[in-house]
Amino acid sequence: MNKNIVILGSTGSIGTQALEVVDNLKNINVIALSTNTNIELLEKQIEKYKPKYVCIADEDKASTFKQNIKDKTLNVYTGTKGLEALATLTKANLILNSLVGNVGLIPTILAIRAKKDIALANKETLVSAGELVMKEAKENNVNIYPIDSEHSAIFQCMQGNKHSQIRKIILTASGGPFREHTNLDNVTLKEALNHPNWSMGKKITIDSATLMNKGLEVIEAKWLFSMDIEDIKVVIHPQSIIHSMVEYKDSAIIAQLGTADMKVPIQYALTYPDRIENNFEKLDFLKHSNLTFKEPNYELFPCLMYAFYAIKRGGLMPCILNASNEIAVEFFLQEKIKFIQIPQVIKYTMEQLEKDNIKNYTLEDVLEMDRKARDIAKDFCLNLKTI
Ligand code: MG
Repeated sequence: MNKNIVILGSTGSIGTQALEVVDNLKNINVIALSTNTNIELLEKQIEKYKPKYVCIADEDKASTFKQNIKDKTLNVYTGTKGLEALATLTKANLILNSLVGNVGLIPTILAIRAKKDIALANKETLVSAGELVMKEAKENNVNIYPIDSEHSAIFQCMQGNKHSQIRKIILTASGGPFREHTNLDNVTLKEALNHPNWSMGKKITIDSATLMNKGLEVIEAKWLFSMDIEDIKVVIHPQSIIHSMVEYKDSAIIAQLGTADMKVPIQYALTYPDRIENNFEKLDFLKHSNLTFKEPNYELFPCLMYAFYAIKRGGLMPCILNASNEIAVEFFLQEKIKFIQIPQVIKYTMEQLEKDNIKNYTLEDVLEMDRKARDIAKDFCLNLKTI
């Protein structure tokens, strides 16, 4: 059966790789693409994939684009409403959400309500509102396929096994560019952006440097695989060869291995349960004779500890964690705060809002808390003595 796919965030790192994956697959039609501001790349993608719908989130860029448009049959949407329209297109079977940040939440929820399967690269969606998202997915009989190397690994390790027989899941972390550091006081933006193993977008690269990425992934894993938080472990594995593991009650551990190439998890999300031949780089064991593992340093990388704290508290704490992290990373990327101030922003924001935390939240509660957390985090950043 042909699958009609919508790619939200098609000009980003995951979006462009998803299109490369699609090039190798039969039976997948790209019917809609979206970008935030990169209309030059979007135009090239339109020429090649001939989608019927596009969304340019940035309103100014969208109006420039509309003036120059050649194909008058192309439906052009803008803003967050445009993303929501694409996420719910009648003809769509699968929504690949590779938006960055909490902006991906509403399109995900609406796609679920419209009974579209989701290939989810936007982990912030599950961090801010995982309980709600998974509940709605269940009610609407929607599948969520992870596009995150660790979660794809876990998903693969679970095939053919009983969920009730899982003892724990073990998320591997590369440790990021600062895994050998003992002090992070003066690390620079350039150093933080220089990930040793993976080439990714800026936000996730900074999250990897602070280990917040792993924290977000712990929360993502909890919801995706309905795990108790106590049964999720993180281990630093600098070679990024083992993408994650599942330990079963009989003490057998199943791991998924491969090169650091996101196209593998992307393809699995698009072709599940099938595995399709491709020409991606293969793992050569002989070049990797030394796989190592160590405990994360929670003191040097408190973001990971805050993520565990937030999910243990439950309710909207992970939403607060995520929103304040997004703001802190934005400020750090603009070199307005220092690297070591990122966890300070998160800690402060969580402390301020902990009293307002509620369980059994609605989508509106999430959006309101997200806004509050962003405001507090922004004020805190603006008042920080920096650099
Ligand atoms: Mg990952």
